[in-house]
Amino acid sequence: MPYRILIIEDEPAIADNILYALKTEGFECVWFATGGEGLRALESVFDLVVLDVGLPDIGGFDLCREIRKRHQLPILFLTARAGEIDRVVGLELGADDYVVKPFSPRELAARIKAILRRTALQPSSQVQIQTLPASPVSSASQPTSPSTSSAATAAAAATAVGITPFQVDSERMVISFFRSPLELSRYEYRLLLAFIEKPGRVWSREQLMEKAWDSPESSLERTVDAHVKSLRSKLREVKPDVEAIRTHRGLGYSLTEVW
Ligand code: CA
Repeated sequence: MPYRILIIEDEPAIADNILYALKTEGFECVWFATGGEGLRALESVFDLVVLDVGLPDIGGFDLCREIRKRHQLPILFLTARAGEIDRVVGLELGADDYVVKPFSPRELAARIKAILRRTALQPSSQVQIQTLPASPVSSASQPTSPSTSSAATAAAAATAVGITPFQVDSERMVISFFRSPLELSRYEYRLLLAFIEKPGRVWSREQLMEKAWDSPESSLERTVDAHVKSLRSKLREVKPDVEAIRTHRGLGYSLTEVW
């Protein structure tokens, strides 16, 4: 099944170029010239959005925030002015990458492929677990351009909303968090694996016991609390400012979907 790309760009000539380049690469593309139409189009499933910063009806940054409220797919910005780049690079928006106009459509296609590889999404699926090797696309293998920054791209990959910062190496039973391998006990490993499999899902203590413990009936649910607590402190060592595991009072725990 081909990847589905939504293009929101008000200049038809630019949109035509993008459409041609992406279709040549085998992507399925849908184009809208306004932000409003683009946002509505996202009610159906897409794998990535190419978003022009300068749209007639809504600013691309505001539109990005709107999209982020409801959807987790990667967003690639098209920027025209140097002043815009700072904001994109500043990552306040959780963009996955950006391309500065004028750009070559082939470069855009290469960047889209890199994002899709990085986020390890299957076409139009919700699976967002990165498995090794999932290191960011090295700058050597990316088309280089003086107008783009691979460092910013890598940083964006790590902080973008909707992309899990975990890498699971199931053969070695090692989970990395923002590229730092975690030292986890057996139960912490299994708990975290359960969380990663379904970001946002609220797990009851009982369900987590089923997932992580060999004989759940002989363990106390307080044991889950204790292991979640130690897991949290290990994640905080890597990222003190991120609340990775949320507590739902009376219900249980979930992994955040916002990074
Ligand atoms: Ca424009």
